[in-house]
Amino acid sequence: MTQTTVKIVKNYIGGEWIDSRTEKTEDVFNPATGEVIAQVPISTSEDVNNAIEVANEAFKTWKEVPVPKRARILFKYQQLLVEHWDELAQLITVENGKNYTEAYGEVQRGIENVEFATGAPSLMMGEQLPSIATDLESGVYRYPIGVIGGITPFNFPMMVPCWMFPMAIATGNTFVMKPSERTPLLANRLAELLEEAGLPKGVFNIVHGAHDVVNGLLDHKKVAAISFVGSQPVAEYVYKRGTENLKRVQALAGAKNHSIVLNDANLENATTQILNAAFGSAGERCMAASVVAVEEEVADEFVALLTQKANEIKIGNGLDEGVFLGPVIRDKHKERTLQYIHSGEEEGANLVRDGRTDEAAKQEGYFVGPTIFDHVTSEMKIWQDEIFAPVLSIARVNNLEEGVDLANESRFANGACIFTRDGGSVRRFRETIDAGMLGVNIGVPAPMAFFPFSGWKDSFYGDLHANGKDGLQFYTRKKVLTTKWV
Ligand code: NAD
Repeated sequence: MTQTTVKIVKNYIGGEWIDSRTEKTEDVFNPATGEVIAQVPISTSEDVNNAIEVANEAFKTWKEVPVPKRARILFKYQQLLVEHWDELAQLITVENGKNYTEAYGEVQRGIENVEFATGAPSLMMGEQLPSIATDLESGVYRYPIGVIGGITPFNFPMMVPCWMFPMAIATGNTFVMKPSERTPLLANRLAELLEEAGLPKGVFNIVHGAHDVVNGLLDHKKVAAISFVGSQPVAEYVYKRGTENLKRVQALAGAKNHSIVLNDANLENATTQILNAAFGSAGERCMAASVVAVEEEVADEFVALLTQKANEIKIGNGLDEGVFLGPVIRDKHKERTLQYIHSGEEEGANLVRDGRTDEAAKQEGYFVGPTIFDHVTSEMKIWQDEIFAPVLSIARVNNLEEGVDLANESRFANGACIFTRDGGSVRRFRETIDAGMLGVNIGVPAPMAFFPFSGWKDSFYGDLHANGKDGLQFYTRKKVLTTKWV
């Protein structure tokens, strides 16, 4: 396909596929080849205002639909997602770059969120106390809140939207989504399948674009709540502007995830897990392992084993057999990553494996090979900043406490893992580490749909986390009825 023949992605408003009013578009690339696969409209504030009005109208009737009936549509949707699993996974690989197996896993994570949301009839139940005093009783009833705005990142084009809209609509809200402009295609497939599942027009809408659409959602009086997932500066901005406009906001932000490897760890397992966590999805995961603190006694062995395994990684197009490491999302992101590798060298870290020299890094597509720095310290930019690429920093520590103190210096606190066989160390780690999601002897401690998902500190702004019962609470509000029987 050439630039002139690629299609312009449409918005989805009120059940119709609509061209944006904008003249402005951006190219959407296949990051493995550099080919332009579509163009995304940078929609206007009129586009998003229109979608919000439509969603607000739809809310009036959707909130009245009995909860089991809403859940039934999601049951049908779950079936359709399962039927289209392979196609969805391929689309993720084409627009995002992660390998097919990871994309397949991402679809599974999305489906699990839909499955959890089908439980809305039980989840939405209230609570009663039949005797708060003589002849007096009280009960809690739960209701939807209105139009929800969802703003999502490029790195999980299926899973992250599915953290939001299935629970939001199952609980009776309507939804306006602004997908990442770098991965807009999967979102439209999700909408087509929702329509096929029988979702009424206007309940789910998509407006593609960038900050104008985001600001439109943040400022509009008829938007009740905002779910955001993306980088730290944008999360902070969204949280401040949304709450300033008196909305409920949950803003999941960037990360720098720390692992601690103790002397008694199974190094074979630790290196396999950390390799996957650091270089899987090209390091473009909010739960990617980005810093490892290793106890000095096993550090040399750990680094040698990890490097040996990193040398065996196959780099290339994620649709090709056996490929583990795909490209990063854009050429600009590759450039930024190379600058970080350069800065790590300048700051005196020991570059053990240089992903710039891999054959794939010299070819078309935005490839960077697995890169490992040893002897990293917390003064270095590669330790402090989220690089969001296959670059891993190793620091050496003398004990668990030093590892925890080092991790807790970070402004980010999303995930953290410990590798050990000692229960007491696990307990001390759990009690003292700053992070919202912890793992023991695993590399990516991402909670499943029925548990809350979120970090602490600058990795999250808000109160109720995504998913689990927190998700249900975020998308609902309560009434308490007190009755006197006379
Ligand atoms: P991003 O912040 O660039 O974009 C996220 C969304 O915000 C997109 O829809 C984008 O269009 C919009 N946006 C970007 N700049 C904006 C601006 N100036 N004003 C208004 N809106 C703007 O993030 P990304 O690069 O797409 O995604 C990667 C980031 O997301 C990483 O930092 C990663 O850690 C984070 N992330 C966090 C979690 C989590 O659970 N904490 C999960 C996934 C991704």
